[in-house]
Amino acid sequence: MTTPPLLSVNDLVVQYRRPGAPPTRAVAGVSLEVHAGEVVGLVGESGCGKSTLARAVCGLTSAAGAITFDGAPVRPLGVRRRDPALTRVQMVFQDPYGSLNPRRRVGAQIADGIRTAADRGEPAAPDAAKAEHFLTRVGLPETAAERYPHEFSGGQRQRIAIARALAARPSLLVGDEPISALDASAQSQVATLMRALAVESGAGLLFISHDLSVVRLIADRIAVMYLGRIVETGPTAEVWDNPRHPYTQALLAAIPRPDGAGRLPEELPGDVPDPADPPSGCRFHPRCPRAFDGCDREEPQLIAGGVACRLYATA
Ligand code: SF4
Repeated sequence: MTTPPLLSVNDLVVQYRRPGAPPTRAVAGVSLEVHAGEVVGLVGESGCGKSTLARAVCGLTSAAGAITFDGAPVRPLGVRRRDPALTRVQMVFQDPYGSLNPRRRVGAQIADGIRTAADRGEPAAPDAAKAEHFLTRVGLPETAAERYPHEFSGGQRQRIAIARALAARPSLLVGDEPISALDASAQSQVATLMRALAVESGAGLLFISHDLSVVRLIADRIAVMYLGRIVETGPTAEVWDNPRHPYTQALLAAIPRPDGAGRLPEELPGDVPDPADPPSGCRFHPRCPRAFDGCDREEPQLIAGGVACRLYATA
């Protein structure tokens, strides 16, 4: 794309320190971009650093490297009051039970989002000044405004959380595992709803999930993350049809699909290593079925073709 990205993350590092333990690099040098109207899916197993990256992008955790949103640097909360411009970045969290206030009516919580946009000096059009407008957009009845969160299912609560985020009229939506706590039938509905609403409003969407099959349904581009680093990135169809990194291949092989041959999904070998003590060389080498001489010593970099694997660096 030739237009400047809405979100630009460059060589991001997020490190945690614990007393008496070596620092843990949850994110170890990640770069990615999201453009307006684009949906980027960030995929990887639990513990790979996806959620830490999401929090850094929203200014909720300190990080080294550069994050810019709409051309301005994102600074973490705590250093100073949150830049009002950053309220144009809205996050939808994993837990639809914990992210809504159980004591406040749904309409009042969505009104918070409307006020957030108004505080930026962006008064809403008359129809968008009411919570009911956003409830309708996420497929809930207007009467939901008068009810409390506990009166809704998990999928409906996540729709309410999305309505609240939309009410703040974001330019960028960040979904941090927004479907992982939902039952299977609600997962693809909520994911496709987020895509539709983001694209319709011209916003970018960074959609984080461990489920590659759902991300494939909604993302224009996919970035695959493993132990704090991006190991493969590219247009969704290319990554899905021709995965190149052995980790992406393993993620795809683990997805159950009706292939007509009766093949069972394969299990990813081994567990994700401790990010506090990552393997030397290629971080995937202890689990990689294609590891070869030197993979335990040399860490591959993401090359222009969008893959970080020595199989391609030496081709
Ligand atoms: Fe496997 Fe080596 Fe490629 Fe790492 S660099 S993914 S160990 S082949």
